[in-house]
Amino acid sequence: MSNFFTPLIIVAAGLLVSKTCTGQNNRTAKDTTDRKWWKEAVVYQVYPRSFKDMDGDGIGDLKGIISKLDYIKSLGVDVVWLNPIYGSPNDDNGYDVSDYRNIMKDFGTMDDFDTMLKGMHTRGIKLVMDLVVNHSSDEHEWFKQSRSSRKNPYREYYHWWNAEKGKPPYRYSLFDVNHDAWRYDSLTNAYYLHYFSRKQPDLNWENPKLRAEVYDIMKFWADKGIDGFRLDAFQFAAKDTTFPAFPNGFERDFTQYYGMQGNLHGYLQEMNQEVLSKYNVMSVAEGAGNTFEDAHNLVDANRNELNMAYAFEAVDIAKPDGYSVVHLKDVFTKWDSAFTDKGWLSIFLANHDQARLVSRFGNDSPQFREASSKMLTTFIMTMRGTPYYYNGDELGMTNAGFTKIEDYRDVQTLNEYQRQKNIGADMQAYLKFIAFSSRDNGRTPFQWDATQNSGFTKGTPWINVNSNYKTINAASQEKDPNSTLNYFRKVVKLRKNNPVLVYGKYTLIDRENPDTYAYTRELNGKKLLILLNFKNKAMNAKTGIDLSKATILLSNYDKPSNTGRLRPYGAVIYELN
Ligand code: BGC
Repeated sequence: MSNFFTPLIIVAAGLLVSKTCTGQNNRTAKDTTDRKWWKEAVVYQVYPRSFKDMDGDGIGDLKGIISKLDYIKSLGVDVVWLNPIYGSPNDDNGYDVSDYRNIMKDFGTMDDFDTMLKGMHTRGIKLVMDLVVNHSSDEHEWFKQSRSSRKNPYREYYHWWNAEKGKPPYRYSLFDVNHDAWRYDSLTNAYYLHYFSRKQPDLNWENPKLRAEVYDIMKFWADKGIDGFRLDAFQFAAKDTTFPAFPNGFERDFTQYYGMQGNLHGYLQEMNQEVLSKYNVMSVAEGAGNTFEDAHNLVDANRNELNMAYAFEAVDIAKPDGYSVVHLKDVFTKWDSAFTDKGWLSIFLANHDQARLVSRFGNDSPQFREASSKMLTTFIMTMRGTPYYYNGDELGMTNAGFTKIEDYRDVQTLNEYQRQKNIGADMQAYLKFIAFSSRDNGRTPFQWDATQNSGFTKGTPWINVNSNYKTINAASQEKDPNSTLNYFRKVVKLRKNNPVLVYGKYTLIDRENPDTYAYTRELNGKKLLILLNFKNKAMNAKTGIDLSKATILLSNYDKPSNTGRLRPYGAVIYELN
């Protein structure tokens, strides 16, 4: 968690700092090589609103996903993570749920859902659903009841602060136009808490009734046969409900105050006992706390909480003026070594809360877009951990190129725009900043083909299609054996055919090299070497390894050298023995 809002408060959240590295623990290396389907999976994230619209209302829908299941299958991925599709007034594109047991009208019906799930399972694809239970929508029946009277039985489903006690201690809100997480409600003369927008009141996890409701909801979906849950913003769910004052300026590092508080682990253990342990489902929470110890505790198999950690430190590295490759290597290496002996990590550099992979971490100019996109894909698919890959990145889709605020739809971007305006900020600078960082950059419609609206919709898209869709689209890439799309398929297949890429030991080589990233993966006598050039010029990786006899398994250029010389954004996977 975290980085997706930092751009807007323009501070470094300084998230996940290693306080404890549990290299020495009493578990064996076997923990990390124990075979599990969710370790071997490649997760493909589908943002339903922007994937494919079938009914012409300009909004993607489940029928659209159904129509593209063969495409998803053709990628070679085995799990789809679907962003929320539940009933919602869409203040935050479905992350404000008003009905957890129904499908959002814009997206279709429960019959569509059943057809979609069946279609995935028939093709051997599993489905992971987003579960948004740090907060609900203010239009959820629970909240309507809760706000109606102080005596209502649902009052305790949320966090209220009676106004006769005075103003509650400041809490920072990520999406509020004033960054104030307490909203006054005159009906009962009290404030309610919302870490996200005003329409996303936080649920009170201390209340056993609320917890039981959530477990029932989870069972409802698990009984339908889904294969996993991604717990949205869940590291924030437990709060100190005495609401002590936090030090001034705490918001610059709010994850330290909001993350992994109180009885969070207790709630997860209860959830595991009540739901997760009873089904063959995988589980991952967004955010992994403040320390490696936090992250380990979430996924330590002996504690019976979740399966894998999803930590944000790496995505925070890319800034508008670039990033240090050594920093990137250090972050990934640090996390890998903290998880050498136990636990399991998610590997990702993009999702629906980030700008586009190639625009942030690669080079989206026409000259280097394809090479850098393939290089980043190679990286994600050759690290230890479960790769999470965001839809559209396989085409090398780029940032939206929006130049005016009217182009944006995201609640966070729009509210922060308003706030910046209120405080008299330089709005041109803000527009430039969001052109790099806004979440909407990753939410433009999927570029299926060169027809109108990129083949996404026959209506008016809810957000503009990227103007480069005639050049960057799936249909044209299908025909080109060297396209980023076909490269993605090759690298996914290579991973699936080589358990060394899933379970093998990771070793960083040539750490100080500011341009290239080199590492080996080793398992049961098999050793692969991965060389990546993060620069727009040819560079040498200095591995000290004789490559003359190495076999080249894959490269993003024809005829790569066997000397460690890499072309601009070159990527090569060698087998060394
Ligand atoms: C989701 C965001 C969402 C926020 C509030 C995040 O973690 O990934 O898209 O805006 O939670 O639900």
